[in-house]
Amino acid sequence: MDDLLSSFYSLPVFDLKHDEKRILLNNALNQLNIHHYNNCKEYRNLINAMSFKLEVSDCQQQPYIVARLFKMLELKSISSDNIFKRLYSSGTSSENVSNIFLDGQSAKEQSKVLSKILQEFTGKQRLPMLLIDSPDIIKNKKSFSARGAGIKGLSFLGRDHTYALNSDMSINYKAIDDFLVKHSNQTILIFGFTFMIWKYLVQPLKEQGQSLNIANSILFHSGGWKKLQTQSVDNHTFKQFCYDILGNTRVHNFYGMVEQTGTVYVECEHGFLHTPVFSDILIRDIQTYRVLDNGEKGLIQLLSVLPRSYPGHSILTEDLGRIIGTDNCSCGRKGHYFHVYGRLPQSETRGCSDTYQ
Ligand SMILES: [Zn+2]
Repeated sequence: MDDLLSSFYSLPVFDLKHDEKRILLNNALNQLNIHHYNNCKEYRNLINAMSFKLEVSDCQQQPYIVARLFKMLELKSISSDNIFKRLYSSGTSSENVSNIFLDGQSAKEQSKVLSKILQEFTGKQRLPMLLIDSPDIIKNKKSFSARGAGIKGLSFLGRDHTYALNSDMSINYKAIDDFLVKHSNQTILIFGFTFMIWKYLVQPLKEQGQSLNIANSILFHSGGWKKLQTQSVDNHTFKQFCYDILGNTRVHNFYGMVEQTGTVYVECEHGFLHTPVFSDILIRDIQTYRVLDNGEKGLIQLLSVLPRSYPGHSILTEDLGRIIGTDNCSCGRKGHYFHVYGRLPQSETRGCSDTYQ
């Protein structure tokens, strides 16, 4: 079990062909099924109730649980004494919140995998990092909201972390100016949740007729588009605003869920989300749950070798997506690449970054 992840660490993140990866992934997921079956009573009950097999011959047959179960049950495969940290997805009320339990090892592995994936886009050196949020977001060290966990998780990538916003979400001009002067001839790493960047940085600057004119930066952003779509902001508009207001920046959206923190799907230079070696995506029909072919739109199922302290290695989400292709994106990265179309209509809304009012 302990060797399971380390065997993946030595593999190239985006260079393994899908057919090679799916064999390794399926083998790892089979081991995780058995591990969670033996260590999580609720998971065992679910597997038995659904008559799922623990060992299957292909990823498409892997048992899965639905994302909302993390809101209804305390799913963990570690004893309460070993809980090092709890992650929460932010919801509109306490019943809507997913609870994720991590032991020390799992927390460490999440950071390691996240760094490995994002370093494919930033390079190995730690860049000066501007966080588009308020420092208050990470004050509670024992439990983090999805936003706090995201900020904390990505901070490993950078140095000289500087928060661009004050506690009331107004722009901290002094902090930004000092930071940009100090690092004027370096590549800057910028991270924030999509909605936060839009509402509290890019839009206010635009309204005031200001821009930051950063010479060179990489911007990662994540979180739902729901609130932005009501303002008719799509990925293209968002990017254009970032170019206008921030300056020379490479913008990468990424997709992931708090239930699988660590294994994220980063948008490439051609606008597609890519599956790293540690994880994969399946698309299922909304009604029949049949696995769909490339090009067909349906519910996203996410597979990840990471979840060890809770049974989150195969989750059927409430998000709609479509696999665009396999192994042949123009950017050169191998594996599946895909688009996400937001939440399935009429399913419950689950904020992420969308919950700051
Ligand atoms: Zn690509």
